[in-house]
Amino acid sequence: MLQELQEHLEWAFAQAEPLKHGKNAGYIPALAEVDPERFSACICTTSGEIIRVGEDNPFTLQSMSKPFLYAEALATFGIETVHQHVAVEPTGKPFDALIDVQSGSKRPHNPMINAGAIAIASLFAQGSERDQVRRLDHLFGRYLGRTPIQFNTRVYLNERDTAFGNRALAHLMNHFGMLGGSVEAALDFYFKACSLQLNCRDLSVMAATLANGGRHPLTGRRVLPGRYLRDTLTVQATCGLYDYSGRFWFDVGVPAKSGVSGGIFAVVPGKMGIAVYAPRLDENGNSVRGLSLLKSLSQKCRFHVFDHA
Ligand code: GLU
Repeated sequence: MLQELQEHLEWAFAQAEPLKHGKNAGYIPALAEVDPERFSACICTTSGEIIRVGEDNPFTLQSMSKPFLYAEALATFGIETVHQHVAVEPTGKPFDALIDVQSGSKRPHNPMINAGAIAIASLFAQGSERDQVRRLDHLFGRYLGRTPIQFNTRVYLNERDTAFGNRALAHLMNHFGMLGGSVEAALDFYFKACSLQLNCRDLSVMAATLANGGRHPLTGRRVLPGRYLRDTLTVQATCGLYDYSGRFWFDVGVPAKSGVSGGIFAVVPGKMGIAVYAPRLDENGNSVRGLSLLKSLSQKCRFHVFDHA
């Protein structure tokens, strides 16, 4: 079974490798300069077996941090409180759209877009900077299965210094009473979460924790209660791939999340977590090779949750 999965992964990788279109994210210099040819993928099964393909270079978590922030918010503050700050409706708009603030709804559409993630970050962004780093370490370290977590300082500084859109978004949200505390603290927490550095192996283990009912496949530790896992995967299923979420669900059919670094992780419930990294992005901000690999793999292995309906 594992041998077969390895063959399928290698086949899907080979299908995607010739794709050269798309561009690295250009608005963060440290992402624009990455070698666009980088390409790696890894699968971690719910029983902790790992298979990989390609050279596993490090990258930053970016928007792939959003499901984990949302899950942690649910577990820490409860569903009712969290949903006073963010709804769970897809937008069909780009991840950094100002639509939510313009709508006057007083809460962003969902926690997978920037507005929603910044609202969630503001719930956590209390205390000193050290407290915040400790909080992030505790949060992501449980999914990674190790601490301390590593940040890419250059990406973090780039994010902070070039985040004109996010800054505008956060200030507008604050103006409309949508943030809990300091704007700068919320943004800083958000930038730090985006700058967490890891590789496909790490990301596949994090995804496998979500695939494994919230229990870490290697440490055996329960990281997330089942109820919040269900809620998180539901929002990923409907909103995880920016304004391509509907089509992704149609083609691949499992909850996933992408980030502008070129990473995507997918969760095959009860079976495995899949991570793929290739920096060139399409017009929706999703990794071109990453989408291709996941689509091929889903078709080959019949991962779509309705394949067996
Ligand atoms: N740091 C990025 C931003 O907020 C994350 C975007 C993403 O990965 O979608 O601009």
